[in-house]
Amino acid sequence: MKTDVVIVGAGPAGIFTAMEMIRKGSKKHIVIVEQGAPIEKRSCPKNKTGKCMNCKPFCHITTGFSGAGAFSDGKLSLSHEVGGDLPDLIGAETAQKTIDYTDKIYLEFGADTHVEGISDAEALKEIRKRAIKAGLKLVDCPIRHLGTEKAQGIYHAIEQYLLENGVEIFFGYSCRNIILENGVCLGIYAEKDGEQMEIRAAHTVVATGRRGAEWLESICAEHAITHQPGTVDIGVRVEVRNEIMEKVNKVLYEGKLIGYPKPFKNKVRTFCQNPGGFVSQENYDNGLAVVNGHSYKELKSENTNLAILCSHNFSYPFNQPIAYAQKVGELTNMLAENHILVQRFGDILDGKRTWQKELDQSNLHPSLPDAVAGDITAAMPYRAMTNIINFILAMDEVVPGFASSETLLYSPELKFYSNKVKMDTDFNTNVAGLHCLGDSSGWTRGLMMASVMGVLMGRKLAED
Ligand SMILES: Cc1cc2nc3c(=O)[nH]c(=O)nc-3n(C[C@H](O)[C@H](O)[C@H](O)COP(=O)(O)OP(=O)(O)OC[C@H]3O[C@@H](n4cnc5c(N)ncnc54)[C@H](O)[C@@H]3O)c2cc1C
Repeated sequence: MKTDVVIVGAGPAGIFTAMEMIRKGSKKHIVIVEQGAPIEKRSCPKNKTGKCMNCKPFCHITTGFSGAGAFSDGKLSLSHEVGGDLPDLIGAETAQKTIDYTDKIYLEFGADTHVEGISDAEALKEIRKRAIKAGLKLVDCPIRHLGTEKAQGIYHAIEQYLLENGVEIFFGYSCRNIILENGVCLGIYAEKDGEQMEIRAAHTVVATGRRGAEWLESICAEHAITHQPGTVDIGVRVEVRNEIMEKVNKVLYEGKLIGYPKPFKNKVRTFCQNPGGFVSQENYDNGLAVVNGHSYKELKSENTNLAILCSHNFSYPFNQPIAYAQKVGELTNMLAENHILVQRFGDILDGKRTWQKELDQSNLHPSLPDAVAGDITAAMPYRAMTNIINFILAMDEVVPGFASSETLLYSPELKFYSNKVKMDTDFNTNVAGLHCLGDSSGWTRGLMMASVMGVLMGRKLAED
């Protein structure tokens, strides 16, 4: 078939591209190809079974309309300092302006008007003072919290809006490759249940998200699309009782802290904090099980979880960060029979594994009940483990009790952001007609920034 614009991936980056084209009055025909299901057909069986069923061919948590956003916690970071490196490409001012604009669209589609992290300046000062003493940087970032269940409603309304405005969405189709003739991208090859489809378009937008990062890397290598290996983040998901995090939760909702602990002085940071939230498991197509976390607007647990991540860069002779992180994940999965491993912080310091009966004795009960008690240090590289331990000890000065012996560490928490595609400020790659957006492009790391990249792409395509 022929169209004006084909978008691969119906995550925030892809859908905001289409949405902004419509809002700017573009009459161009838009096709979206999404390997997962429409939002109303996405459902994680774990809600009924209580246990991850390793869904095939795709995990419903990360795949389908609205991408990894549908079941995500829906925390929209309203500062350009958070959510990826896009401001380096387009400038901080444009990034912030577009965040403010995109935030208004989320509000139009039903997002909560309340913004977290801006109400108590005195308490914020106190937290910052402690962070400075501990050698950590506190990043100011107002948060609009959609909540997992509300996020689905908002994205459902967006899905309806796109369909009503003539966007054609092909669900269940996977993009296999791009059509490249004489150095120009002329569309894509897609496939559903063995049936092939060729979609020709003047513009091809690839926005395949974190789970499509590896696929995009292979496409870049095959077609000489200029890119550079970026970083991967390796870390753990930490869980404590709400009482421990009470102050930070109340004042900031999400406390974003960055440190460079000794002896390696690598960048280590907190990410994706979920007050009253739940630790979750997500599965990649290759069977890799990784840990994540989210929180509902209404349903609350007794715990708060957040990720602690260490960035990893490589140079000569090895530069395959995704493959490296995958090996770490596979080793950890192997020790937990393809589930998530969990260990108490005190046991890590004591050099012993954790047993299930020891978890049962704690104040803190894992919000991921099928996590397997064991020894994450048997699979975590020494540098990453040392960074995590020393960062947790520093965090204890900001949040007393954070480094208690019953604090839980889940592994593997991996973020694949590699393969930063080289583009100009209008998101043109070195292949004419091809644009790469969102988390798979390496330039974003969150809902808001991926949406912002979509908005800017949509404006460009509308005026083209
Ligand atoms: C559990 C969880 C919680 C999260 N919580 C937050 C949060 O609170 N705040 C925040 O800012 N971020 C959060 N994130 C991250 C956020 O969801 C992502 O950063 C964001 O969704 C990235 O948007 P994207 O459009 O780049 O990609 P995605 O949302 O990943 O969408 C990509 C889409 O492309 C599709 N696709 C991939 N490959 C192909 C192919 N070959 N053919 C066709 N379709 C394909 C996928 O099925 C997917 O639907 C969370 C993520 C998870 C998993």
